[in-house]
Amino acid sequence: MAKRIQFARTGGSEVLELVDGTPADPAPGEVRVKNQAVGLNFIDIYFRTGLYPAPSLPSGLGTEGAGVVDAVGEGVDHLREGDRVAYAQGPLGAYGEYHVLPADKAVVLPDGVDFETAAASMLKGLTVQYLLRQTYPLKGGETILWHAAAGGVGSIACQWARALGVKVIGTVSSPEKARLAKDNGAWETIDYTREDVVERVRELTSGEMCDVVYDSVGKDTWITSLDCLKPRSLMVSFGNASGAVEGVNLGILNQKGSLFVTRPSLNGYADTRERLEMMCRDLFEMLGSGKVKVDIGQRYALADAAKAQDALAARQTTGSTILLP
Ligand code: NDP
Repeated sequence: MAKRIQFARTGGSEVLELVDGTPADPAPGEVRVKNQAVGLNFIDIYFRTGLYPAPSLPSGLGTEGAGVVDAVGEGVDHLREGDRVAYAQGPLGAYGEYHVLPADKAVVLPDGVDFETAAASMLKGLTVQYLLRQTYPLKGGETILWHAAAGGVGSIACQWARALGVKVIGTVSSPEKARLAKDNGAWETIDYTREDVVERVRELTSGEMCDVVYDSVGKDTWITSLDCLKPRSLMVSFGNASGAVEGVNLGILNQKGSLFVTRPSLNGYADTRERLEMMCRDLFEMLGSGKVKVDIGQRYALADAAKAQDALAARQTTGSTILLP
């Protein structure tokens, strides 16, 4: 028997239940991973609340984890039992002692990357990889605005951007989060609970504003983010922590300076095995070189997944959060 978290209806964290069951066997093309650590992500909350629909209910939850391959389906030749692997894509269900997923979504971990680090950085780090290196290939000397700079994705982004010579202005909600973002390489921080973000960006950039804004907060920050951009520059809207951006009249992009906007996702960038491997090589190199150190701010037992999600939704976490099966 093995434990996993599931939900039978969408709603608050109370819908999450810990259940026991026999782990499924991998079908052809799949592997089963005995998880050693599971990543907690904001997207898990979107599925739980129904903002993103789960394919069916009851459903497992979570798409990120790291562990050891303990069963291999027919036709899988790049993985073997005993391999140390991590994953950040595939079916919901990573919140468990075991997870079955398509083998082409699992990658072998380099020796230097431990399970906790992998579970804390696969989804977030691959996201930073495509955002900083592909969505817009940043160049040294450019200035970006990054919302939630002390969060999971934000903590990795600050370090990676620093390594690229990019100046990060990070928004945060407390002095403690400001310190963390600075320690991670943010050039400046703005505490949006007591400072006007647009005015501070104007001051910090001597009126030039930013080359790119990375906004995962969504509804609450949409207009502010557009106002922080240089003419003809790029708004990257990649999350909905405050709710989805809806009902946009495209004319706003004209009014705010002939801006560009994109709404990317990890699955859209790591959509082939080749691309996933390329992005992992880049991430593992950043981790191996020490240029990016993964900050695990919180560890919870798997059974406390609801508490962990509540803390993430209430802005109480910093860095990455992992669940331990
Ligand atoms: P974080 O650790 O960054 O937590 C979210 C942070 O957002 C909070 O700590 C808080 O920081 C800030 N925030 C601002 N407004 C709100 C609000 N109303 N409710 C809750 N939090 C708020 O989470 P993750 O690192 O897991 O994810 C960060 C974002 O990136 C999420 O929006 C997620 O969906 C997105 N994402 C998108 C991906 C993609 O490919 N498109 C992939 C991975 C993540 P503060 O207190 O400083 O304001």
